[in-house]
Amino acid sequence: MEKKRVLLFYPPGALFQRGEDRCQQNIDEGSAQAMRACNDLGYAAAILLRDGYEVKLQDYQTQGDTYDTLIQDMETFKPDMIMMSITNTTIHSDVKVANDLKKRFNPIVVLKGALFFDPEQALLDLIDLSCVDYLIGGEIDFCIGKIANYCFKGEGKPEEINNILYKDENGKMVKTRFHVWDDDLDSQPFPARHLMRNELYIHPGTKEPMATIQTARGCPSQCVFCLTPEISGKRVRFRSPQNVLDEMIDCYDNHHISCFFFKADTFTINPDWVKEMCELIINSKLCGKIKFTANSRVRPLKKETLELMKKAGCFLVAFGFESGSDEMLKTMRKGTTVAENRQAAKWCKEIGLPFWGYFVIGFPWETKEDILKTKKLIMETDPDFIEVTIALPFYGTPMYETCKENNLLEKSVLGSDFFHSSTKGTMHLTIDEVMKLRKNILLSFYLRPKYIFRKMAECVTQPGVFVQYVKYGLKLVINLFK
Ligand code: SF4
Repeated sequence: MEKKRVLLFYPPGALFQRGEDRCQQNIDEGSAQAMRACNDLGYAAAILLRDGYEVKLQDYQTQGDTYDTLIQDMETFKPDMIMMSITNTTIHSDVKVANDLKKRFNPIVVLKGALFFDPEQALLDLIDLSCVDYLIGGEIDFCIGKIANYCFKGEGKPEEINNILYKDENGKMVKTRFHVWDDDLDSQPFPARHLMRNELYIHPGTKEPMATIQTARGCPSQCVFCLTPEISGKRVRFRSPQNVLDEMIDCYDNHHISCFFFKADTFTINPDWVKEMCELIINSKLCGKIKFTANSRVRPLKKETLELMKKAGCFLVAFGFESGSDEMLKTMRKGTTVAENRQAAKWCKEIGLPFWGYFVIGFPWETKEDILKTKKLIMETDPDFIEVTIALPFYGTPMYETCKENNLLEKSVLGSDFFHSSTKGTMHLTIDEVMKLRKNILLSFYLRPKYIFRKMAECVTQPGVFVQYVKYGLKLVINLFK
């Protein structure tokens, strides 16, 4: 029997981290970031291949392809099902693409994105879902195979598939069970990297291919702006270090990839797990041949953990410092202090481990003084790179409710991103004032002669890296003055 065909894709258009549900970052307008691998599509592809489907995977946005290429693929590949990753920002244009493809080619249409995690009906009413058959709000690898097997093999029932919505016979979207997560992450196949264009996802400095490896899912913290506790759960589910190492070896041996982004909501949350992982790398054939970067919280964090990470090949650690104001950290329920932010930065400097600082401004309670405290912390801790984003009230977060109660929301949070806020500002500042403060912080940080000379000195033996830095610097300045 002829195999059923599934097309998995990111649509053509601006660059967004579509695979990373919690942030969905706008890459074109960020400071120094590159697209990360489309692992959500890769996982879906691996599951569907395992279940006997023919799969085509296309990241049209990162490939720089146009809508015409998508149409050509629809005509030649003739998929029976299409699955597209959406973001809160691009949802209206994404749905337009899906509706158009449905009308022209009539495949089963599946959309996947954090927006569909246990959504309110009021939210669904804002979106034209007339041509969409399934919405995946949970983890794609635990849903897509079951949806395909129901549609094409008649196995199971849609109501038995957790964390999705399906269209019933009356055309109404029906929710299944949400807030349940599968634990056995080791049982999942690795993303189908032979179908992914790995060379598109690069280390921003060296331009070498960088694979994203998901090491854990979930976070026990309760930051009011973050989708993670909602969509991935408050309990951290880990893969075994050996399973992660096996995937790294597969990347190294079969895809010639030696640079990794360890994707975990908080990579360092369990020091024992990190120790085991790092020791496995150090004692493996990959030792000295690979490098990696990872996200971290400043609590819990030990200096020994950072030292071991560096020894195992960590070239950059990214901290969600968020703020230089203890009051803001408390109000946003970060569960950290400014002193801990400073301590983490100090340890990195002592160890010689480059670090990235993520900061967020524009929280509902924030004053100009709070934001200036953040600026002070940035200048004092002097990270290697920073990003300052505007607090975004994603649907489903406590921050969304606070903004709603205080009349701080623009008409809809759909269509906005970290650089184009859907809020009117804070209770004390207009959104224009917040944007001006962001611009001031970024320019003050990146245009310091001391910083520029330091980066030039670091690149003496790597002129290619310096060229990349100049490119990112120019992009940042252009974006800030647009
Ligand atoms: S620490 Fe906070 S921002 Fe980071 S993943 Fe957990 S909840 Fe989200």
